[in-house]
Amino acid sequence: MRILFLGTAGGRRVTFKQMRASGGFLVESGPWRVHVDPGPGALVRLIQCGIDPGTIEAILLTHRHLDHSGDVNTLVEARTMGGWTKGGSLFAPKDALEGEDPVVFRYHRKNLDRVEVITSGWEVTWNGLVFRAVWPHLHHGVETYGLIIEGEGVRVGYVADGRQEDGLGELYKGVDLLIVNTTFRRPRDMDHLSVEDAVPILAQARPRLAIITHFSMEMLGKVVMESAAYLEEKTGVETLPARDFMEIVLHRHGNEVFIEEATVELVHPLGLGGEV
Ligand SMILES: [Zn+2]
Ligand SMILES: [Zn+2]
Repeated sequence: MRILFLGTAGGRRVTFKQMRASGGFLVESGPWRVHVDPGPGALVRLIQCGIDPGTIEAILLTHRHLDHSGDVNTLVEARTMGGWTKGGSLFAPKDALEGEDPVVFRYHRKNLDRVEVITSGWEVTWNGLVFRAVWPHLHHGVETYGLIIEGEGVRVGYVADGRQEDGLGELYKGVDLLIVNTTFRRPRDMDHLSVEDAVPILAQARPRLAIITHFSMEMLGKVVMESAAYLEEKTGVETLPARDFMEIVLHRHGNEVFIEEATVELVHPLGLGGEV
């Protein structure tokens, strides 16, 4: 399984000044690609990596906030070439799809094969990949879910946006890789996790590798490296800060899971794809 970070931005300034990219991340298993949380610029980030958006089989939103969904309509249109090649799936919480102000336009949905609402305990087994919604996070009154993704004998957890809650890490026990959205360095009375909040999460979940991402301004510069080192020291869990275009490859041999990390080379650095 490969995870490719198409963005690591969290707070407003980091996202809207594009100090870090905000395209979410891709999960790949064999030829299958699932795009999780395609925020602003997701299409451009795919093109930069040389990935044809027509090859994305599913889009999954953990919640409706714009930094996680800004490019969802663009991607549905790119996946289906504006309706010429119908197909693909979309999974999202109810308040992203229904009500007065859905973030996925109804007009585009008819081009998809499958549109499914995520609820607590929701699970889909799909082309050998299992996606499970772990927990309804407390996050500004917006329906938000963490994820566990399984396939090829490996497990990945994604602790999405939300407030720290007792026992959150227990829900991710047994994952090989845990991605945690640590927006801030120190806890604030907000519905976002901080590096400090991640300590009990990592201590409880005990993944092989943890990756922190979704950074606000105060996390940038040397703070990201210091934060990863701090978490490693406090919990004994190897921890890396995510970088834009970082890829993590996980594979199992017998009883052991191997994890490799690299930065992908951009095929189209300007984000302008193809030969003219
Ligand atoms: Zn959010
Ligand atoms: Zn967010």
